[in-house]
Amino acid sequence: MATGIQPQPGILDIALYVGGASQLDGQSNVLKLSSNENPLGASPAAVQAFARAAHDLHRYPSTDHAELRAAIADIWAVDAARVVCGVGSGEILKLLGEAYAGPGAEVVFTEHGFSMYPIYAHACGATPVIVPERDRVVDVDAILAACTDRTRLIYLANPANPSGTMIPEAEVARLAAGLPPQALLVLDGAYAEYVADFDAGRALVEARENVVMTRTFSKIYGLGGMRVGWAYGPQPVIDVLNRLRGPFNLSAPALAAAEAAMRDTAHTERCRVENARWRDWLAAGLAELGVPSDPSSANFILARFADTAEAQACDAYLRSQGIIVRQVAGYGLPHCLRITVGDESACRRVVHAVGQFKGSR
Ligand code: PMP
Repeated sequence: MATGIQPQPGILDIALYVGGASQLDGQSNVLKLSSNENPLGASPAAVQAFARAAHDLHRYPSTDHAELRAAIADIWAVDAARVVCGVGSGEILKLLGEAYAGPGAEVVFTEHGFSMYPIYAHACGATPVIVPERDRVVDVDAILAACTDRTRLIYLANPANPSGTMIPEAEVARLAAGLPPQALLVLDGAYAEYVADFDAGRALVEARENVVMTRTFSKIYGLGGMRVGWAYGPQPVIDVLNRLRGPFNLSAPALAAAEAAMRDTAHTERCRVENARWRDWLAAGLAELGVPSDPSSANFILARFADTAEAQACDAYLRSQGIIVRQVAGYGLPHCLRITVGDESACRRVVHAVGQFKGSR
């Protein structure tokens, strides 16, 4: 049926997001390693805070998120006035597109960048600009070369998803310093807490006016189901995001759980140490089986197979064994599988299954 009602240009170019819930939900003994969730779960203090919040479900939540921002400021030594909280970091990344890009603007990200970046660019009507990487590592010179007088946003995850690779802080600083004056650098630190002694761009935000850092509670804090993220940026950028976001964007239980999770630094540290230990074990075990991966700084590894056919066959075999990993063909990496670092038994199960797969060929 012909209709005059059409969405904004670009929206029909958006491919639907694939891969949230496990396709084997309901089956027993399924191991879901496809969404980079924390195998140790949330802090018990966060679970308790969530339960306590249930007593006041008839009340609207805080609009200014003051208590959560104070916790973030205490733990990360940032200025609470320049923190904004969102429905996952995804909401903030999207709002940055709406606020700073739009029709005629260019939004830059790298070839294997997070799959939502092109969606955020299309959603605001901007033109996505895809920059090549060097062996699955972000290339700052290539980004700088791609910038024009229409570049408004650069999305950059460090560590990157799905490669797990990182670029040094000095390289990020060189990028920020070399950008055209109208361009805002968005440093996506979704996996930052997995890197010891890493500020993920905090110092750069303090020193410059063209950098904003986003963070999430979905990964190391184990709160993917709560949908909480935050950003730290220059005051004018934070003021803009506060105007755009919904006044009650975060639910009271989500705010309570996130605040408790942020303050339970012992749990966060335990998750970081366990992840590093089993990530390195998993990567070494798969490498011995002839499945290498890039050095990962995150809570997943990008396992590389001989070719697309082998990656697909291995994915199918793992699935037959109840193990769900992520195909990353949509990221331009059809010969790879992204595998979340689970706990010890999960990692052992993956190495065992890949060993059986390799042995059967
Ligand atoms: N950035 C990157 C690089 C991610 O991998 C993710 C989650 N997969 C996000 C942002 C968004 O996470 P959330 O909205 O759960 O905070």
